[in-house]
Amino acid sequence: IQYIIGKTEFYGAPFIVNSDVLIPRPETEELVSWVLNKIDLIHKPKEQIHILDIGTGSGCIAIAIALNQPKINIWGLDKSAKALIVAKKNSQLNGVDVKFINKDILKTNKLPIKYDIIVSNPPYVREKEKNKMKNNVLKHEPSMALFVKNDNPLLFYKKILQLAERSLNPKGQIFFEINQYLGLEVLTLAKKYGFKKTELIKDVFGNDRMVKCQLD
Ligand code: GLN
Repeated sequence: IQYIIGKTEFYGAPFIVNSDVLIPRPETEELVSWVLNKIDLIHKPKEQIHILDIGTGSGCIAIAIALNQPKINIWGLDKSAKALIVAKKNSQLNGVDVKFINKDILKTNKLPIKYDIIVSNPPYVREKEKNKMKNNVLKHEPSMALFVKNDNPLLFYKKILQLAERSLNPKGQIFFEINQYLGLEVLTLAKKYGFKKTELIKDVFGNDRMVKCQLD
């Protein structure tokens, strides 16, 4: 329905959508809410902080954060130039300044600057889970944004953890949306890359859905 009317709402704000981007999910609103709470807790109100949203798609995560934290500097990165056209329209629609980068994170060797927060909702649905998914998702949403191979489902998490290890400020944090069946695997991976503090929380449906990682 959102694709037919060309718009939706996310975190109380309007968003344009088309078949180049996923329809933002309620679980992802919970991820935004977690990030915003931690910013309030850790950073002083006037502190300049730098945030990167990897796999930004429609820009919903980055734009919702920017709307609620006017002091931040925020970038949204995506491999899909078509998705970024939608994301740019959404940042204009909402009157926020999000900077977009057209890049494939899997082909990135170094992030341009150091960040206080890296947030990502990467593709995480395994091909074998397709049979559990509804036709409205399978037929209309961009598969590039959803699916990963059964034998390497955490490739985006590995890459992001690896890059973040060198590109986070002290006390910097990563926030991930995750596949509900792979919570413990993501925690193990984060530990392997040196992230000593990790936290896994459930979404409103009771499924393991979000992970926060910090180096120390
Ligand atoms: N939560 C989405 C779904 O179940 C998947 C999002 C993603 O792969 N990042 O359709």
